[in-house]
Amino acid sequence: MVNYKDLGLVNTREMFKRAVAGGYAIPAFNFNTMEQMQAIVQAAVETKSPVIMQVSKGARNYANATILRYMAEGAVAYAKELGCEHPEIVLHLDHGDSFELCKDCIDMGFSSVMYDGSALPYEENIKISRQVVEYAHQYDVTVECELGVLAGVEDEVASEVSHYTKPEEVIDFATRTGCDSLAISIGTSHGAYKFKPEQCTRDPKTGKLVPPPLAFDVLHEIEKKLPGFPIVLHGSSSVPQEEVDTINAYGGKLPDAIGIPEDQLREASKSAVCKINIDSDSRLAMTAAIRKHLAEHPDHFDPRQYLKPARENMKKMYIHKIVNVLGSDGKLAE
Ligand SMILES: [Zn+2]
Repeated sequence: MVNYKDLGLVNTREMFKRAVAGGYAIPAFNFNTMEQMQAIVQAAVETKSPVIMQVSKGARNYANATILRYMAEGAVAYAKELGCEHPEIVLHLDHGDSFELCKDCIDMGFSSVMYDGSALPYEENIKISRQVVEYAHQYDVTVECELGVLAGVEDEVASEVSHYTKPEEVIDFATRTGCDSLAISIGTSHGAYKFKPEQCTRDPKTGKLVPPPLAFDVLHEIEKKLPGFPIVLHGSSSVPQEEVDTINAYGGKLPDAIGIPEDQLREASKSAVCKINIDSDSRLAMTAAIRKHLAEHPDHFDPRQYLKPARENMKKMYIHKIVNVLGSDGKLAE
């Protein structure tokens, strides 16, 4: 049993309180590789932003859970080495699907976990969420739960359809589970293909797809029911068109990949939304840089040659999100 405090990590409680009051959101970036971890830490240090590094079940399968935990511990030391005296880094489990998985992560030093029972019947979701909260709070680990269903595919999380969170359920759910934050469904979606072309309209000028807007009315209803309560948005990559274009220009094939417009995320950040999950944009930034580099340098075979520009491109994207979309730059605790 390792407690996250001994690893220099923090939970989400204080940073969420500040984010809700300050009208900005904390970035939650998924990581699977050393290059992603380095880019996240560099971006957070340079912008003086708190950051949530999150691990999905797919990341645990890919990289091994123990390695990821040591990487997060390394991230804290690395941030200090880069000149950040008191980094605020959260190690978070993304989409925990059982009590056992959440417990496992808490026991190995995670400072925050998500239990996602959104696919279960309402009462069952409450029951297991409550069980996770009771265990986590013994160690001052914060818990995110989910109500409502997001569409899309992300690692092992997949749903054909989305169901908006019902505002009339949130008070009961938050009270009975005791969760610290709530992931809601208001039209964001997992993956790089968030919407089918037939759900979108086409901009007559550019020919580009325009996705349906987020359900801000549902968000505001929820805010009214739970004033000041931390709200989380999953599936909030924007799928930058320039990265998709680069990928397609250098041999890739991602037709009509589409995400959430950044101005809508900026708008959401100003509300009780205090954590915004971004995963696909990092994958796209990495792949675009690697494809371009290898196409331009067919003689290169040292992974460092193409992973270096990949890391740079991810870092640029992370900084852009922090400064221009979420507004968490300069928000480290005094
Ligand atoms: Zn998610």
